Amino acid sequence: MTISPGPSVDADPALGQAVKAADRAHVFHSWSAQSVIDPLAVAGAEGSYFWDFEGKRYLDFSSQLVNTNIGHQHPKVVAAIQEQAAKLCTFAPAFAIEARSEAARLIAERTPGDLDKIFFTNGGAEANENAIRMARLHTGRQKVLSTYRSYHGATANAIALTGDPRRWQNEIGVSGVVHFWGPYPYRSNFHAGNEAQECERALAHLEQVIAFEGPQTVAAIILETVVGTAGILIPPAGYLAGVREICDRYGIVFILDEVMAGFGRTGEWFAADHWGVTPDLLTFAKGVNSGYVPLGGVAISGEIAATFAERPFPGGLTYSGHPLACASAVATINAMAEEGIVENAKHIGETVIGPELRAMAERHPSVGEVRGLGVFWAVELVKNRETREPITPYNAAGAANAPIAELAAECKKRGLWPFTNMNRFHVVPPCNVSESEVKEGLAILDEVL
Ligand code: PLP
Repeated sequence: MTISPGPSVDADPALGQAVKAADRAHVFHSWSAQSVIDPLAVAGAEGSYFWDFEGKRYLDFSSQLVNTNIGHQHPKVVAAIQEQAAKLCTFAPAFAIEARSEAARLIAERTPGDLDKIFFTNGGAEANENAIRMARLHTGRQKVLSTYRSYHGATANAIALTGDPRRWQNEIGVSGVVHFWGPYPYRSNFHAGNEAQECERALAHLEQVIAFEGPQTVAAIILETVVGTAGILIPPAGYLAGVREICDRYGIVFILDEVMAGFGRTGEWFAADHWGVTPDLLTFAKGVNSGYVPLGGVAISGEIAATFAERPFPGGLTYSGHPLACASAVATINAMAEEGIVENAKHIGETVIGPELRAMAERHPSVGEVRGLGVFWAVELVKNRETREPITPYNAAGAANAPIAELAAECKKRGLWPFTNMNRFHVVPPCNVSESEVKEGLAILDEVL
């Protein structure tokens, strides 16, 4: 089974070769050894698909780093960027701009509780940097606690807070970061037999870490509401409420990182909505405007905003609240609401992805567990279901030649663009993906498994 070329595909192999040659000569790529990467030259994209210069079409099951929640080239968002460009391309953050005010209003309207003030950044890592800055200044404390299984971005503090191996070469010189174990029932660090036990023991562990660090030194706890890149880990019922209660008891700022989980990905506007929990700060990026123009931010509670009512906030960015980015956020949020895109993510997860992945787990002994919400699912692959030994060891570098890389290559051959990490295949299509598109992609995954 393969994805057929669509009507939008115009082949131009010569241009593709020129694009690739210039890329290889001059573009320095992220997270890669420069001599071994072989980037695909992309000619265009639309909805859930993109295509190369040979005319080969791919179904985008990655949403480009779990980002294009509204799909590629949504006409309402493209038009809004064009209209804003004709009106006002750029203006400094100190001014009140229509697109910026409206984006902030629409975001504040959707964030939980009283997270009603929005500080704009250019992406997720900067959002976390500024959330940490706010928490430290608000509490007068230094330490920030985060989980080992997490990704919070690639800037200095954000990568130090990250748990995954990308931290290892980057954390030198950053102080005040402490890691702890979050809940993960499938690979419990707490020898728990069920979700309730996992929750109870994970909360007890966190409280013990705080006691040994000194509660009066802890400024913030930062968590991904649903852990994304590090495994799509859904917190057991009661866990987030438990962390909220611990934070309140010790005067610690609770930061939820919804950079990947926010704006419809889990089938709610924010993942926190599944558990009715309100953090003090919520960071976002990606889905806010599907990355059409770089944008991220921090949604701030009334109490933390009040800290900076008389006292200046010592942080800012030239492009904070960029008019093109904000106009695209306004159009994205309005289109998501008008077209029921958040509801679609929920429906597709409940009626197609969940049932089909569970059925696949029955058929393929290499599938250890499937888990997810909305259009945010992980298929965890193991050598042995009894021992749960992963098909790749816990080491990002080692994953390059492991079976997961072969699985990704086989998907690509068939026109399915995957998101893989460590021993996992993540099913993360756009939130407005159709039922038939998802089925098409899952059939390829099934065949490849
Ligand atoms: N936080 C989470 C949960 C993420 O998934 C990411 C990126 O994948 C980031 C932060 C960093 O965002 P950015 O790459 O926009 O800096």
